[in-house]
Amino acid sequence: MSAGDGQIGGQIKGWCPGALQPMESGDGWVVRIRPPGGRLDAAQAGAIADGACAHGNGVIELTGRANLQLRGVTPASHAPLIAALRAHGLVDADAATEARRNILVTPYADPQTDALASDLAAALAASGLTLPSKFGFAVDPGPSPVLTRDPADIRIERHAQGLILRAEGMAQGAPYRGPEQALDLARWFLDQGGAPDGRGRMAALIARSTRPPGATLAAPAATPQPGPGATPQGMLAALEFGQIPSDTLRRLARLGPLRLTPWRMVLVTGTRSLPVLPGVILDPRDPALGLRACPGAPACPQAHAATRPLARALAGLVPEGAVLHVSGCTKGCGWPRAADITLTATAAGFDLIRHGRASDPATLRGLHALQLPKVL
Ligand code: SF4
Repeated sequence: MSAGDGQIGGQIKGWCPGALQPMESGDGWVVRIRPPGGRLDAAQAGAIADGACAHGNGVIELTGRANLQLRGVTPASHAPLIAALRAHGLVDADAATEARRNILVTPYADPQTDALASDLAAALAASGLTLPSKFGFAVDPGPSPVLTRDPADIRIERHAQGLILRAEGMAQGAPYRGPEQALDLARWFLDQGGAPDGRGRMAALIARSTRPPGATLAAPAATPQPGPGATPQGMLAALEFGQIPSDTLRRLARLGPLRLTPWRMVLVTGTRSLPVLPGVILDPRDPALGLRACPGAPACPQAHAATRPLARALAGLVPEGAVLHVSGCTKGCGWPRAADITLTATAAGFDLIRHGRASDPATLRGLHALQLPKVL
């Protein structure tokens, strides 16, 4: 559910969920939190963990845009949850500002990176711009970018001559002059017809041979996505199923300030080792890294089966580097993208989909759980 359209009361809306605009799901409302700058201190992490347990069903997920989302929130518990999060600076002034602040920040941020991100957030808040709900920015100015495979439409990166501003889909960027230039590029996207019905992405516009002015400096080479373990900035902790148990979140944040990533991992800064904690994966060869699953039964009333125990049982059969997605129903909340193998639970058993989403046409239908090891 990293970037789906929101749905409340059965009506599809053209927005991504946030804290102030929750999304209805099978197990209640999903409340998505965008920690400013992708950072969490111990008090903020504690507030999220407490809020998930007191006002949701305790589930905390990492999203593909380095946000956190709480599940199982109700209409009655939403307001006290928001009040608790707002007291820790985790909620924007209003829903429009929240929607606009779609900024992905490299976890390897230094003070200059943090300043770039906060200046951009302030400019966006003041801009009044209405951008497509999935339209986002990446602040990725390290020696080589680490977010190029992650969703963004406008990127701040580093060239040998200094910072550049690059439109997604372009191989070159323009010398970066400040946040207003990033907003001007967003306005150019709108002026060029990038979002004719309120939806659209920069790469699609660029693919139509429309080019922003001033892009002369070649984009730097990307760095492969890292695995869990030690980094110069701290320890990258991967989370099983992209979900972080509330007490694990509290304990990680006590070890060092956290940086969220879009890779189902958190960076615990300033530490060289981590204790064994529930849900944390530190071995880059752990087959659990390839597993995706929604909460499933019994957590979600729409689920036709338990998902996570099955995914764990099948983990050893998944080829290295492949993704196995087990979904409790066709909504595919646990992984809204295509997976190498998807098992979708139905009333008649499991459907197997190759290289598709939970709702895509199945190769095999109505499989019993006991048949799955042989089929895989
Ligand atoms: S995909 Fe999973 S969490 Fe989402 S509605 Fe279906 S069973 Fe529930």
